[in-house]
Amino acid sequence: MLNVKDLNFSYKKTPILKDLSFKVEQGENLAIIGESGSGKSTLLKVLYGEYDLNFGNIHWKDIEVLGPKHNLVVGYQFMKYVAQEFDLMPFISVEENIGTFLSNFFPKEKKERTAELLDIVELTSFAQTKVKTLSGGQKQRVALARALAKQPEIILLDEPFSHIDNFKKQALRRNVFKYLKERNVTCILATHDKDDVLGFADQMILLNNNIIEAYDTPEALYKNPKTPLVASFFGEFNIINDKIIYANQLKVIEISELKATVITSYFKGNYYLVEADLDGERVFFESTNQIKESRAVFLEILL
Ligand code: ADP
Ligand code: MG
Repeated sequence: MLNVKDLNFSYKKTPILKDLSFKVEQGENLAIIGESGSGKSTLLKVLYGEYDLNFGNIHWKDIEVLGPKHNLVVGYQFMKYVAQEFDLMPFISVEENIGTFLSNFFPKEKKERTAELLDIVELTSFAQTKVKTLSGGQKQRVALARALAKQPEIILLDEPFSHIDNFKKQALRRNVFKYLKERNVTCILATHDKDDVLGFADQMILLNNNIIEAYDTPEALYKNPKTPLVASFFGEFNIINDKIIYANQLKVIEISELKATVITSYFKGNYYLVEADLDGERVFFESTNQIKESRAVFLEILL
């Protein structure tokens, strides 16, 4: 298990991470979420041993993860890290990049393993292509496959699907997370995309103002968002009578005390997101039909 205790870190004087404590069991998937600049990437780098802590400690089983003050070479055999800015070797092929960490003493195994990983990231037909000619999203997939190659016990992924287009993203996410679960690889993933979290993460941590603002299962945080920032991660929401109400918890009915005037409707596929004015406040609700501008509607809160 990964055990993080009272982790404090700053690059210079200003603290970036304050008193973070959490545990991740073997095979678990933990999502680190937060706004841009909240310290997600910093946390992954610190967990990887790229920096020395100001205070606290990190253990993987009984091994203490230490920074450059104590280690000549950054990183550990059991851990792989895929940075937001992935660094690949541009002048060699996709296949060779993926094989970087695999031993040449077992050519047959190396070949099979590379083929399996190419399949997971859907790059089989690009095996011989030089990395420099790939798109950003394809490079990101190569970086993922390379990190998975040596079967780490723990993998740190920094926004691993951010450069990948929507056509590929859904299937790739399922492939990667399924692969990690099947092999019991512990995964810590930094993201601001709820689709990277819902259905995949066992636990989630929201970083804000240098601390852990929320830490629970995605389901618990969704059902009971303690702060507006937690709710905003999951989607559009309103604050009505000091309560957080998601847009899908407001429905149009015949008559009620909540009378709103429609401002605009946004087409969202299987529903419309409607923006309306409720006593001078903006509210958002979901509707199966488009509702015309300036129409009055009555809303009910479904809880
Ligand atoms: P996130 O990944 O959540 O967007 P980061 O971890 O990249 O956030 O950044 C957190 C904070 O640390 C930001 O204020 C950023 O400017 C600062 N920061 C990041 N890297 C460095 C660095 N190498 N030196 C100094 N400050 C940094
Ligand atoms: Mg980042």
